[in-house]
Amino acid sequence: MSDIIKLLPDHIANQIAAGEVVQRPASVVKEMVENAIDAGATKIQVIIKDAGKTLIQIIDNGCGMSGGDAIMCFERHATSKVSTADDLFALKTKGFRGEALASIAAIAHVCVKTRQEFTETGTLIEIEGSKVKTNEATVCPVGTSFEVKNLFYNVPARRNFLKSDNVEFNHIVDEFERIVLAHPDLAFSLHHNDNEVYNLYSAVLRKRIVDILGKSSNDKLVPIEESTEIVTVVGYVGKPEFAKKSRGEQFLFVNNRYFKDTFFNHALTKAFDGLVQPKMFPSYFLYLTVDPKKIDVNVHPTKTEIKFEEDRLIYAILLSAVRQALGKYNVAPTLDFERETSFDLPHEMKYQPAVEPTIRVNPDYNPFQTTTRTSNSGSSGNSFTKAIRAEGFGASETTPADWQNFYKIEEEEVAIEPVTLDLPATDALPKAFLFRGKYIFTTSKSGLLVFDAQRATERIVYDELMAQFISKPIASQQLLFPIEREFSTNEKTEWESNKTMLERLGFVGNFNDKTIEISAVPAILQEESIHDCLDFILEKIAFQEIDKGEIAHVIVESIATATGRRKAITTNEAAEHLIEQLFSCSEHSFTPKGKKIIETITLDEIATKF
Ligand code: ADP
Ligand code: MG
Repeated sequence: MSDIIKLLPDHIANQIAAGEVVQRPASVVKEMVENAIDAGATKIQVIIKDAGKTLIQIIDNGCGMSGGDAIMCFERHATSKVSTADDLFALKTKGFRGEALASIAAIAHVCVKTRQEFTETGTLIEIEGSKVKTNEATVCPVGTSFEVKNLFYNVPARRNFLKSDNVEFNHIVDEFERIVLAHPDLAFSLHHNDNEVYNLYSAVLRKRIVDILGKSSNDKLVPIEESTEIVTVVGYVGKPEFAKKSRGEQFLFVNNRYFKDTFFNHALTKAFDGLVQPKMFPSYFLYLTVDPKKIDVNVHPTKTEIKFEEDRLIYAILLSAVRQALGKYNVAPTLDFERETSFDLPHEMKYQPAVEPTIRVNPDYNPFQTTTRTSNSGSSGNSFTKAIRAEGFGASETTPADWQNFYKIEEEEVAIEPVTLDLPATDALPKAFLFRGKYIFTTSKSGLLVFDAQRATERIVYDELMAQFISKPIASQQLLFPIEREFSTNEKTEWESNKTMLERLGFVGNFNDKTIEISAVPAILQEESIHDCLDFILEKIAFQEIDKGEIAHVIVESIATATGRRKAITTNEAAEHLIEQLFSCSEHSFTPKGKKIIETITLDEIATKF
């Protein structure tokens, strides 16, 4: 028999490839706008006719292309962004596969006009179904304008498969929003059938989000800022009461690229546990920065699925960063402090005379220095107000003054409304009274506050360790005599797959034939607690009773509980210090396990006793 295998002609190969890259007009918009961003454009216009079925035009003021490149860019695997395999692991650009333009040109009529700076004339190329029809010099501005007409004109099955204009245009808006949210510093516009849908100027992130969601959203955003050597997370989450019925306002970005991730989404949903109604979806706009070597963007042609090397740690960091931020926003409802937090204030401010923002410049501010949030245990002040201020909003070490950033200034200006406890005026009286080593009494406006000392300790240790865990490995102590224990297969597999996480938590273990040898544990653990804690951890991970991402929290929780049990409070001064520390925690009414820390006995209740 004669040979039957032959190579597909290029235009057919391109058409097949196009099926993967271009599903609908929105895919063209995404690829072309991303190309414009990669070309260094600062202003990008998107013009759409009939939901992209008739025309998709992208005009940018980027670097433009030479005459040769303007032809070359339509070849398959033609890219200026990657030249060696190593480049794939250090991606700084949106595109790199070199197949978008080849795919688009195979299934549409494409016209490109492009000019580079310092060249007199530009280039005009017209291409139809991969065939070049025109290639000539032209007069045009610096930058590039792509027109994509009659999408799928030669693939009728695909064209018929397109949905109504409404649906297709909504897809375009979705893609557009994902890109503009990833690049608040660039100006974008979107026109549909001569209507202006968006006209966005370069802005700070918060403003860009508000531009997309609408003005009223400004009051709903809670800032997130967490910096660790594994990942930096900045952005906003929506206050729980503004959760939506759909996932429409859930945005994750990594290195300025939008991505979808069910694992991280789970972490974020968990952070809102108990705060949003079932079947409601919290909003989030979170921007991760990760070493490009530690992610793989190459998983899918549309590049919205990304593999993370350290996904479990990032899960834990996301969960706790969002929980902490929400905790701050949700300041202790059981205390009768006036609930004034920076997150509430933009709304209240409407009823106050306007205060002209003042510019505070921190001469020591170094934008490249990463700062991390740690709990306030080391502070020497003894007023609760101070503790709350220091940990609270606009604290200079966590929010460097940024005079350009109107939104930030607003946050800082409104931040400090002193929270007052009715503390005795003279120093002769104790501010906190320790009772039987177990309970601590203080007074508040409405009566007596009683604190459970053990639970308060638990909360403080948990917050401290969690903050440490996020920013760096938890301090570990080498054991003079390593602990040897037998292990089950399950325990071994699970310990090994969580090894980096466990080491970051302070536990170092190595397996021999029959035993695991624990050579270091978190420094905070008292000797008596070590065995209990290890039992707990091995059991938890071995039986996979907890979600993978939750392991860090459960372990820190168990360390906190163990420490709470062992750490004795013996003097009124120590009690007072403990309460100060408690008030600098993200949440001070409940332990991490949800047990009550504070009870109020009101004046009325006391009065009924007499
Ligand atoms: P990729 O983006 O993966 O490199 P594309 O097919 O999208 O592949 O683009 C091919 C090449 O065409 C790019 O690498 C770039 O050099 C060039 N290019 C595409 N769009 C533009 C643009 N708007 N401005 C300048 N160059 C562009
Ligand atoms: Mg591209």
